[in-house]
Amino acid sequence: MKIALIGLGNMGLPMAANLLKAGHEVIGFDLSETALAAHRANGGTTATTIAQAVADVDAVVTMLPTGKHVADVCTGQGGILASISARTKLVIDSSTIDVATAKQVGADAAEKGVEFLDAPVSGGTAGAAAGTLTFMCGGTEAGFAAAEPLLKGMGRAIIHAGPAGSGQVAKACNNMMLAINMLGVSEAMAMADRLGLSRQKLFDIVAPSTGQSFALTGYCPVPGPVPTTPANRDYAPGFTTALMVKDLRLAQDAAEAAGAPTPLGAHATRLYAAMMEEGLSAKDFSVIARWLAAKSRTDLA
Ligand code: NAD
Repeated sequence: MKIALIGLGNMGLPMAANLLKAGHEVIGFDLSETALAAHRANGGTTATTIAQAVADVDAVVTMLPTGKHVADVCTGQGGILASISARTKLVIDSSTIDVATAKQVGADAAEKGVEFLDAPVSGGTAGAAAGTLTFMCGGTEAGFAAAEPLLKGMGRAIIHAGPAGSGQVAKACNNMMLAINMLGVSEAMAMADRLGLSRQKLFDIVAPSTGQSFALTGYCPVPGPVPTTPANRDYAPGFTTALMVKDLRLAQDAAEAAGAPTPLGAHATRLYAAMMEEGLSAKDFSVIARWLAAKSRTDLA
């Protein structure tokens, strides 16, 4: 397929590289000249405007920071929907954005007879590089069927979540759960420390027990038990605290709009945001274990 990929950042660039490896032709566009040069070095071609990038392609993929970027790039003047030809029947947005914008862009695309899929990802930059991302997709059955072969070039689990917006709902739920689980592990590790139980012993006991979670055994937030996690490299990301706070706020907005009770999600949002304000936004979000361990009960009462 001939694909335009808009947004060649930390995620978009390796995703484009995997599409190239899968045999697709990939025209990249980004505001950053460095990103464009990196895409060319990977064997892709580049365009100087969005209109030029999408003029004659089978599908468009976007990987942008926020809902505002996605709305501008998709529905703005000189944007994707204004510039595609009859050849383009599919637009996929893999950014993590708010549910309302995803639904609105989907509706605007449908009016033009174009299938739009909100298809945010889990797996981070490592998953993007390895081509093992999870794609959670919102859109029609036909849109999902058209997108699946393309997404397989970048991911391992490609799942149709439901109608437009459902992918973003799934992403908000996933990251809220991860943030809460990570806090749970971090609290227990800090508590064990103060009560004289070693972190390694706690890990060995809980890993095969009912307290086990991915946050413990796949992403352990203290140095030692799982040598590959960010905790062992001074919390170099990984997935930054800033991105986790962004996702938690999106989850809170979605929960509020739906009247869903999320007391733990709300509290987790406050704790990660407080940590960010103390200068840890660029560290991996699992630094919450170190941050929490240095606090007293009254600090966080
Ligand atoms: P990034 O900031 O590294 O990349 C975004 C890119 O979009 C940048 O290169 C920027 O120049 C480009 N851009 C911005 N406005 C543009 C425009 N109008 N036209 C063209 N290009 C434009 O961000 P990222 O880490 O690649 O994340 C992208 C999305 O994926 C975000 O929504 C993020 O929340 C989500 N996400 C990130 C991760 C992660 O680990 N980094 C994991 C899962 C999901």
